[in-house]
Amino acid sequence: MNVIHYSADELTALMKQMSLMYDIVRIVDPEGDNEWVLGSSGELRKEDFCPKISDNRKNCSECDSFMACKEGKRVERTEIIDGKIFHIVMFPVDFSLANGSEVRCALECITRIENSEDDVLEIVKDGHRLEIKEDKVMVDPLTGLYNWDGFFYESRAAIDSQPDKEWVVIVYDIMSFKLVNDLFGEDKGDEVLVKVAGLIESKCEEGEVCARLRGDLFAVCIHKDHYDSTFTISASKELPGLINSPQFHLHIQGGVYNVTDKNVMVSAMVDRAHLALSTIKGSSERRMIEFDENLMARLLNEQQIITDFKRALLDREFHMFLQPQVSNKGEVKGAEALVRWIRPDNEIVSPGDFLDVLERTDLITDLDKYIWEEAAKTLASWKGTDKENLYISINISPKDFFYMDVYQFIHDLVDKYDLDKKKLKLEITETILMQDAIKQLALVNRLHDEGFDIEIDDFGKGYSSLSLLKDINADVLKIDKEFLQETQNSKRSEDILGTVIDMSDRLAMRVITEGVETREQLEKMIELGCYMFQGYYFAKPMSLEEFESKWTEIGASFNEEKLA
Ligand code: C2E
Ligand code: CA
Ligand code: CA
Repeated sequence: MNVIHYSADELTALMKQMSLMYDIVRIVDPEGDNEWVLGSSGELRKEDFCPKISDNRKNCSECDSFMACKEGKRVERTEIIDGKIFHIVMFPVDFSLANGSEVRCALECITRIENSEDDVLEIVKDGHRLEIKEDKVMVDPLTGLYNWDGFFYESRAAIDSQPDKEWVVIVYDIMSFKLVNDLFGEDKGDEVLVKVAGLIESKCEEGEVCARLRGDLFAVCIHKDHYDSTFTISASKELPGLINSPQFHLHIQGGVYNVTDKNVMVSAMVDRAHLALSTIKGSSERRMIEFDENLMARLLNEQQIITDFKRALLDREFHMFLQPQVSNKGEVKGAEALVRWIRPDNEIVSPGDFLDVLERTDLITDLDKYIWEEAAKTLASWKGTDKENLYISINISPKDFFYMDVYQFIHDLVDKYDLDKKKLKLEITETILMQDAIKQLALVNRLHDEGFDIEIDDFGKGYSSLSLLKDINADVLKIDKEFLQETQNSKRSEDILGTVIDMSDRLAMRVITEGVETREQLEKMIELGCYMFQGYYFAKPMSLEEFESKWTEIGASFNEEKLA
């Protein structure tokens, strides 16, 4: 194994990432008999002693971390302390301190393996096999599948007793499962778990293992030659009618680990599958992901974004770009605020490269508050100028509703900058209904009733857009750009688009077509009755300065062309 070299910052970021998966993550320098800990400002600091998980090892040369460092290889062990079982994986790492000195340490990742108090588990000599007392409960009473302990024991036994087989471990999670209990009650929640368990079990064949690890987390340990696309679960097809609600769609995601080393602890196999899963959690488009060795590098990169974010926000590296919205008469009526991260080397980073990461934490709210305020400031600065009548639409992430008081913040902004509510338009997507739908709906409708324009973004991209219209008093529909691209050679999409526009008329909603790239698309949409457009055909998102100097030309050129 090559020992990976990190800077202190990178190692700090890695530790934070690992703490999402493990109960304890620490760096020990067994030779120096000390531990490195994270200081309050994120720096690595040396502690005087190496607090061992247990002190039954008399000296450091017997310590596994010492061996991991000395031999430059990963070491694992399982330990029982006070009747609790811990699984510890030690990775040797090299890192350099700010003063240039190099340190070789062991990164210890420690997981507490759940077990009830009277369990007696003994670790057999090879360090892998858990011998479990006869009366130990290994079955989940609700679903009849194995539980966590059962899964580890049975999977180990299966792998050891079928030496000619290759294996795959998959961990499944039901997206936003908590909502099922909240929206439909615990009985329904239980029913869902039982049905999902039955479905997963039905996919397994003899000699394979299937379990509910905890809550809504399931796992299977299956033969590699049996692993195929049927293990990607489509809840709408395979469990039709189990939940019949426009507000909640059952979405089951899986993380896959191809077992390359059968000696690895089963818990570590589950960790890897789970780690892969964590990278797509919350994405309603992804159902399955495989663990690969680059995943750590990718996670490190994500962690870097998180580490950089706060500083970059303070250093004003985030900018509000504006993309004009143009009427069928060729007049720019307003613009959408779209964020850009301009790095110190002037590289312009698009939201696609960092928004997901921020949305997985509450950092997205810091960014959004900042961009919204930029939009409000801009609107205030336009008062009394030729841009007085322009509006700006801001994007509200579904996560914002979860982490902050959107209602209060928007109100405060409008008060602070003394804005006309119609000038600050609010773009939301149907995914706001993924969490606490009823509360979110009430909040959005309240904003609407008070005079804000609510725009439904990416309409047609999701699957429940129509039912959303029933519940939300929206003012504007933004037809998603993907939808438009299909119209070029499809009469059917065109009919649908026409129908959507007619329907919006009846509901007194305006339609904005997004992603208009060609003259042809524009003419088609005008023909279908759309009045407002946004897309590269008119202009790409641009800096505020550029927008302010160019906005009158953007519409004018179209107008002239039209007249010609
Ligand atoms: P969106 O709200 O659907 O924004 C429209 C996206 O389509 C923008 O990408 C825009 O640059 C792109 N676009 C516009 N016209 C065309 C076109 O003619 N063709 C094509 N192919 N694309 C076009 P961008 O700026 O990369 O933003 C991506 C997404 O990131 C946005 O999608 C929005 O969901 C999110 N986003 C952007 N800024 C913010 C922000 O400040 N806060 C939040 N929460 N989300 C943001
Ligand atoms: Ca938008
Ligand atoms: Ca959109």
